[in-house]
Amino acid sequence: MPRSKKVQSREEFQVFEDYLAENGLKHSRQREIILEHFLANKGHMTVDDLYRIIQRTHPEIGRTTIYRTLKLLCDAELAEAIELNDGLTRFEHLYNSEHHDHLICTECGAIIEFTNDEIERLQKEIARAHGFSADSHRHQIFGVCRKCNRRRRPIKKNRSKNKSRRTDYSLSEAELIHL
Ligand SMILES: [Zn+2]
Ligand SMILES: [Zn+2]
Repeated sequence: MPRSKKVQSREEFQVFEDYLAENGLKHSRQREIILEHFLANKGHMTVDDLYRIIQRTHPEIGRTTIYRTLKLLCDAELAEAIELNDGLTRFEHLYNSEHHDHLICTECGAIIEFTNDEIERLQKEIARAHGFSADSHRHQIFGVCRKCNRRRRPIKKNRSKNKSRRTDYSLSEAELIHL
């Protein structure tokens, strides 16, 4: 039986509380509020997206606090950070969420989620062939979405080579400057 949303979020609060305790970090009301709003909003959010949402009801919570809390949520495996080519990190739910990969539009920033059993199987096979034990992976395909493709006429062939694919999470230069 699928668990109700309420039970799941209570679980997530517990995971966060445990993580903070294990790492000697204090549990603050602000962090709790940030987690609450993060969980209430699905999708791929930037720090500013979440900041704007939280501002409406909690103007006392600063952007830096939100940024730092999102980092903690990543460390606690409640959130996952996605790197795009625009220098902004998006955060999405990780705990109890289905694994998926992304198609990322470099024009409008749209993120399309997909899953493909064959890709998953191949990745495992490749790891095994290299004696590598894979814990996780993130497959990001950069390009232009259907909507943006329709907007550009004529459709250009031989688009420039895809930009580098980032699989791990790090703070971009642009974000550091922002803080
Ligand atoms: Zn697009
Ligand atoms: Zn996603």
